[in-house]
Formats: sequence, structure tokens, C-alpha cells
Amino acid sequence: MMNDDQLLRYSRQIMLPGFDIDGQERLLAAHVLIVGLGGLGAPAAFYLTAAGVGTLTLADFDSVDVTNLQRQIVHFDADVGRLKVESAAAKLSALNGETVLHCITDKLEGERLREAVASVDLVLDCTDNFTVRFALNTACWEFRKPLVSGAAIRGEGQLLVIDPRDPDSACYRCLYDESVTGSQLTCSESGVLSPLVGVIGTLEALEAIKLLSGYGRPAVSRLQLFDAAAHEWRSLKLRRAPDCPVCSRRSAI
Ligand SMILES: [Zn+2]
Repeated sequence: MMNDDQLLRYSRQIMLPGFDIDGQERLLAAHVLIVGLGGLGAPAAFYLTAAGVGTLTLADFDSVDVTNLQRQIVHFDADVGRLKVESAAAKLSALNGETVLHCITDKLEGERLREAVASVDLVLDCTDNFTVRFALNTACWEFRKPLVSGAAIRGEGQLLVIDPRDPDSACYRCLYDESVTGSQLTCSESGVLSPLVGVIGTLEALEAIKLLSGYGRPAVSRLQLFDAAAHEWRSLKLRRAPDCPVCSRRSAI
């Protein structure tokens, strides 16, 4: 049960029809894994913390570089050289002292990654690493955990919500073959427009809150593509690939 301070703090959410006290209590009880505390993870972590998600696990092995500050708004001037998860955790606990924060500072892979996914309610993919993206997709499917995946490069952003509990949901592997791993583009090579990562990271938080609270209708299996230069959105229905090695019924058996 929420106390009076919590009822006041989250009142603007609780008063929303369809959100209510039940939705807030579900958020407070929820545990989210955020993989990557860069441009996407920064706004996502801020909004999940502010909205009252009870527990966050922050995973990133990287340290803050001066070139990150242009878009990774959870890191400040004085954080250059500091581990990103430590820098982020300091800001998030200042924002909401009740949020329980766990930090993973080693590379998330193999058994460690599977354990991290198995122990949470939802995963936010905020990484720019395709190998990690595919591993998160596979683990989320194995443990039936919803996955909200975002990406932004140059002036283009994309968002995909995957929910293995939904029989109509496709997965990340249905969209991309693992051969893209070798040809991956990164912001360090291609550049990225600063607020674009804020748009996509914020939408990741929005979809996560909908999935956790039961509010609205999450954009499951609909690939959202954003062209920032033209300000155009495209929404594509993603169908489950019949031969997908991760999510097809055949591979599940
Ligand atoms: Zn699939």
C-alpha cells in the first residue's frame, strides 16, 4: 500500500483514468533492467525514476567521455572519466530517493546477461551494440520478459516493443539477421543529433510504463521509424518470421 507521501508525489499519474492507484502500485513493485546509460538510457532512466518504478538495474561498462555530454544528459561536466552507471545512479537517487538502484559495471554477456534478464520484469535496450541487442532479445524470449528496444543514429530513430507473452509479437531477430552485427554503425562514427536520442529514449520509457502499469495499449510488434530531418514517423506492423530461430513456434518446440 502507498503512503500519503507517495499518493501526493504520484498524484498526477494516479488521477489518470485507466492508470489509477493500481497502475502506480504496479510501477512501484516493478524491476526494470536498463542496458546502456548513454543517449537513450539517460532520459529513459530519468523518466522511469521520476514516474516511480520501484527498482532499476543499470548496466554499462563504459566511462563518461567528453563527446558523450552533447546528448547523454544524465552525465555532467564533472563526470568525465567516471563510470556511467555510477554517474547515472547519483543523479537518479537525487531525483527520487526511494528508487532502489542496482549497478552492473562489467560487460553484460553470457550467463550474467541471462541472470539479469531473468530477475527483472522488463528490459530496456538502450545499447548501440548489435551483439548485446540480439542476446537481450534471445534472453527476453527465453524468460518471457517484455523488451523495449530503441536506436538512434544520424537523424534517424527507431523503436520496437517486443512482448513474448503476446502470441502475435515478433522479435528483434525477425527484423534483423545477425549478419548486421559486423556492419553496425555507431554514433562515434556516424554522428547523431542530440534531442533525437531524447525522443527515442523517452518513448522507450513511455512504452515501458504502459507495459508495467497496464495503462493504454503498448505498441507491441509495431516498428516505429522517425526521420528527424523531415519530421516524419512511419509505423510498420512487424510479423513473426515463420523460420525465426528465436521466436517461431517451431524453434520454441
Ligand atoms: Zn523472431
